[in-house]
Amino acid sequence: MLPLPPFALESPDQLDDLLALAAAPGSRLLAGGTDLVPSLKHRLFEPRTLVALAGVGELHGVVESDGWLGIGAGETLRSVRRHPVVREQLPALAQACGTVATSTIQAMATLGGNLMLDTRCAFYNQPQGWRDSIGGCLKAAGSVCHVARTGTGCYAAHSADTVPVLWLMGAEVELASATSRRRVPVQDLYDGLDGRRWLRTEPGEVVLRVWVPLRSEAIAYRKVRRRGAIDYGALLVGVRREGLGAVAVIGAVGPAPMEVRVPAAAELPDRAWEAVKPLNTHVVATSWRRHMVRVSVRRALESLS
Ligand SMILES: Cc1cc2nc3c(=O)[nH]c(=O)nc-3n(C[C@H](O)[C@H](O)[C@H](O)COP(=O)(O)OP(=O)(O)OC[C@H]3O[C@@H](n4cnc5c(N)ncnc54)[C@H](O)[C@@H]3O)c2cc1C
Ligand code: SF4
Repeated sequence: MLPLPPFALESPDQLDDLLALAAAPGSRLLAGGTDLVPSLKHRLFEPRTLVALAGVGELHGVVESDGWLGIGAGETLRSVRRHPVVREQLPALAQACGTVATSTIQAMATLGGNLMLDTRCAFYNQPQGWRDSIGGCLKAAGSVCHVARTGTGCYAAHSADTVPVLWLMGAEVELASATSRRRVPVQDLYDGLDGRRWLRTEPGEVVLRVWVPLRSEAIAYRKVRRRGAIDYGALLVGVRREGLGAVAVIGAVGPAPMEVRVPAAAELPDRAWEAVKPLNTHVVATSWRRHMVRVSVRRALESLS
C-alpha cells in the first residue's frame, strides 16, 4: 500500500471561496480523485492543499439552454452516461464515458476531471522507487526523456476518453477564475507541443460546465486497449462524416488529440495513418498502435455508413 503525502484539505461550498482557494499557490483541485490520488501516491507531485470541488453547487446538474446541454463539471461519468438526453441525443458521449476504467470508477470520476486529466507515459506513471531506478525523466525529477533520449520535449499523451467525442461534437468549456469567466471550444484547452504543459488554462481556472450542442450528427467512437476494462486507451478514435468528407480526432498519441480532416471520406484511414505517429509512451507496441490508427479509423467510418 503506497501512503499519501501530507496535505491540507479545503472543502468550500461557495463558488467564490473555491475560486479564491484555487488561485492560492501550492493548491490543487480534487474532483473524484481517481487520477489525482494515484498520482499523489506515486509522488508525481506534492500539493500543499487539495481543494475539493464536490460541495460547490455550480459544478453540478445538467441543464438545457438554447439547443445546448450544459453538464456540470462535477457530474460523474456514470451520471453523464445515464442521463436520458445524453443517451438519446449524444450516444457517443455516453459510450465514451462507459469505456473509462470500470463502472465503480465511473461512479466517482467526473467529467471535469476527465477533461483536465494529466498526460500519461509508461516512464512517468510509476511509483517513485521505479522512477528513481531509471533516474526520473524530464516530466518528473530527471534530465532525460526515455522516449526520445536526445530530445528536450515531453511526449506524454492525453488519454481522456470523452475528449475526442466532445471535440467532434463542437462542445465548449465554461471556465472561471477569481478574476475571469470565459467559454472556449474544447480543443482550445489543449496544447500539443509538450506533455508537461498540455493545458492552455490560466492558473486558478476551474472548469464549471461543459456545453454540448444538441444536433444530430452521428459520431463513431473506438478505443484500442489491452483489455476490456481498467485500462487507459492505447488509441482513442472519434470519427464524423462531413458531407462527402470526414474528420477524425485521435487521442492517446501525444499531449493533445490530433484532428485529421479530408474532403473525401474514403481517404481518411490513410491520411490519419500518415499524420499520426505514436511514440513509445505506452506499454503497447508503437508499431501496432500506428497500424491500429488506420484500422480503427476505417472501422469507425464503416460504422457510420
Ligand atoms: C484504474 C484506472 C483506470 C482508468 N482508466 C481510464 C480510462 O480508460 N480513460 C480515462 O479517460 N481515464 C481513466 N482513468 C482516469 C480517471 O478515472 C478519469 O479520467 C476521470 O474522469 C478523472 O476524473 P476525476 O474526477 O477522478 O479527476 P481527479 O482525479 O479528481 O482530477 C484529475 C485532474 O483534473 C483536475 N480537475 C478536476 N476537476 C477539475 C475542474 N472542474 N476544473 C479544473 N481542474 C479540474 C485535478 O486538479 C487533477 O489535476 C482511470 C483511472 C484509474 C484509477
Ligand atoms: S515522454 Fe519522456 S519526459 Fe515525457 S513523461 Fe515520458 S519519459 Fe518523461
